[in-house]
Amino acid sequence: MSGASGSIDVTSVSVVGLGYVGLTVAAVLASRGFRVTGIDVDRERVSAVSSGRCPIHEPGLDRLVRRSVSRGTLAATTDYTAVRETSVTFVTVGTPSNSDGSIDLRYVREASRSIGEALRGKPDGHLVVVKSTVVPGTTGKVVVPTLESSSGKRVGEGLFVCVNPEFLREGSAVRDMLEPDRIVLGDAGDGSSDLLLELYRRLYRRRMPPVLKTNYVNAELIKYANNVFLAARVSLINEFANLCQLIPGADVKVVAEGIGLDERIGPHFLRAGIGFGGSCFPKDIRAIVALSRELGHDPRITRAVYEVNELQPSVVVRTAEELLGDLMGKRVAVLGLAFKPNTDDVRESPALKLVRLFAQRGAEVRAYDPAAGENARRELGDTAEVVGSVEECLEGADLCVLATEWDQFRSLRPEDFASLMREPALIDGRRVYDPKEFSGKVRFRAIGLGPADG
Ligand code: NAD
Repeated sequence: MSGASGSIDVTSVSVVGLGYVGLTVAAVLASRGFRVTGIDVDRERVSAVSSGRCPIHEPGLDRLVRRSVSRGTLAATTDYTAVRETSVTFVTVGTPSNSDGSIDLRYVREASRSIGEALRGKPDGHLVVVKSTVVPGTTGKVVVPTLESSSGKRVGEGLFVCVNPEFLREGSAVRDMLEPDRIVLGDAGDGSSDLLLELYRRLYRRRMPPVLKTNYVNAELIKYANNVFLAARVSLINEFANLCQLIPGADVKVVAEGIGLDERIGPHFLRAGIGFGGSCFPKDIRAIVALSRELGHDPRITRAVYEVNELQPSVVVRTAEELLGDLMGKRVAVLGLAFKPNTDDVRESPALKLVRLFAQRGAEVRAYDPAAGENARRELGDTAEVVGSVEECLEGADLCVLATEWDQFRSLRPEDFASLMREPALIDGRRVYDPKEFSGKVRFRAIGLGPADG
């Protein structure tokens, strides 16, 4: 146990960046009795949280935010001086891509500088936790020097810095934060990890997950390796899905089930579809590819994982052309716009790529999503009409594509499509419908489903 342990009050926390990760961390800690102040530069977001409203769609998060604000354990502000009143600060700002794919560390730098300035002259110790996903080397070469120069403090002498990558998934962020598979901690060998461990012990008590302690760069690398491995599974199964579509009687769902039973492979992340998206996989892959190249290394498999994914939405368009011929002037209904169900996040959503591809071919696209409609409308402009219900979306369409597997869409039956559409043709981009039930009643195609046998 290091000398750092026990020297700060780990129940007093600030969280910098109130997005999907930051707000989840803040609200979960606040709901468990930690005193939490969220800090964000986005005034609208801060004012929503301050009044107990959750600015994003994430199951269970609105209740935690409302209750914690009303109990007084969660507050939000744009004022960084709040950092000084706390002992632990989580950095959860975004780390998007630059135009060349490399990581854009602007927000991490700004946040580190503002945190350091707030800590200048603070007499007690303070722990800064880098939770944002950052390429290896960032904490040591960017965060630490920025914090040190703006605070006038030295790491290990009242200032502690720890890397703690986040593995939660949008759509189940609260559950994932409450029941993580493991906790990864990286520090400079100064005991910073032990301080954070003390916080997590208070949070998880007897349900403490396994902990891996290492240095900064390994902790940073683990996050990227994790995402690349998961993305690779998706691209691999999608590659087999595309092959299955060419083989009579083949079905990637059965193939995935078969390989998933192999203990060495396991069943997760083997669902074929229109590709992965979201705010993490694509940009994290680009970032690690860019860093590898900078270091003179060619990450061939990682590049291929990305390339397969980039092409996946076009498989749906090809299938649509097989069904309808020329798409010019055809009415296409797209069900689902979020990059996955149970979120309103459309960042790099393959559903949006699909909409754009159809529009480029002259199709008239109508789309519907239970939660992401507004965000999608902002992204798509007049490329598509984003409507308010399944019925409006399907009405008069020549083709429907299921792009995001919301529960609301799973319950649709062939008759729903047949009764509303002009020409009921359906492409199941997420493999939620039973081909046996649908094939007789609508013109049915699905990702990874070969032509009927014989
Ligand atoms: P987000 O874009 O939803 O939220 C980022 C927030 O940071 C925004 O509210 C923004 O206004 C705020 N911000 C930007 N600059 C700031 C500054 N200087 N000071 C204070 N606030 C500032 O991002 P996110 O999806 O929550 O991701 C955050 C980080 O966590 C990223 O590095 C991401 O890769 C990583 N991550 C995300 C997920 C996920 O599922 N979204 C999962 C694991 C890890």
